[in-house]
Amino acid sequence: MKGQTAVITGSSRGIGRTAAEELAKKGVQIVIVDINGGNAEKVAEEIKSQYGVETLGIKADISNSEDVKRLFEEAVKKFSKIEILVNNAGITRDNLLIRMKDEEWDAVLNINLKGAFLCSREAIKIMSKNKYGRIINIASVVAFIGNPGQVNYSASKAGLVALTKTLAKEYASRGITVNAVAPGFIQTAMTEQLPEKVKEEMLRMIPLSRFGTTQDVANAITFLALPESGYITGQVIHVNGGMYM
Ligand code: NAP
Repeated sequence: MKGQTAVITGSSRGIGRTAAEELAKKGVQIVIVDINGGNAEKVAEEIKSQYGVETLGIKADISNSEDVKRLFEEAVKKFSKIEILVNNAGITRDNLLIRMKDEEWDAVLNINLKGAFLCSREAIKIMSKNKYGRIINIASVVAFIGNPGQVNYSASKAGLVALTKTLAKEYASRGITVNAVAPGFIQTAMTEQLPEKVKEEMLRMIPLSRFGTTQDVANAITFLALPESGYITGQVIHVNGGMYM
């Protein structure tokens, strides 16, 4: 993997940042992407000095096609090729269906699903030329089991699983594999905000009796990104402590 380049969306914190560090440890050049920007540059600098790989920090809203085009243009200008794309950026806007506002539905679908479509479209143009690529989409256990209050989020993640399988079929002949990782309950800013009662209920559903870490998810992402994982495509790796089998 040494010398390859990975674009990881939503990588200034949480799962994306740990995945970026894990790939950097293997000598992969990293493009950090977030929506606020300042932090992306800071994290890119930190990873460069810690792991000795070239990095780039870019502010881009992945739900905006102009931003996404610019993101990939800047990445290619610096690194010439992109071998790995991790569609990780995601948000929640939870509400019960009858209270859910149009804006809450649209924001989640636009970032979690359309964002992955836009980034994959740009990345695949670049990967196709080199007849090599690894795309890894970060879905969620709720795509498979549903979750009250998350009709928008669970639909977006189920859509991402279908997108994964379809792209896997469309681009297998170009040497590009497309897989998903479906995390369960992972300790990040996204889950910190949940009430203690909900967390206790969740824990009871997890056979391995602990919440996941960003490292648990990053390990699965790194595995799928390896050149040696080239016979795996259209699959979902569940990283959930057994809460869904
Ligand atoms: P997080 O800590 O909330 O971080 C989200 C990241 O996405 C941030 O870097 C954020 O940028 C970025 N982002 C948000 N909107 C964006 C946009 N429009 N354009 C570009 N970047 C954007 O998230 P996380 O908990 O690590 O989750 C990462 C992924 O795993 C998500 O897709 C999530 O749905 C999925 N997941 C998480 C869990 C969990 O338990 N945590 C479980 C299942 C699945 P800023 O820092 O600039 O805001």
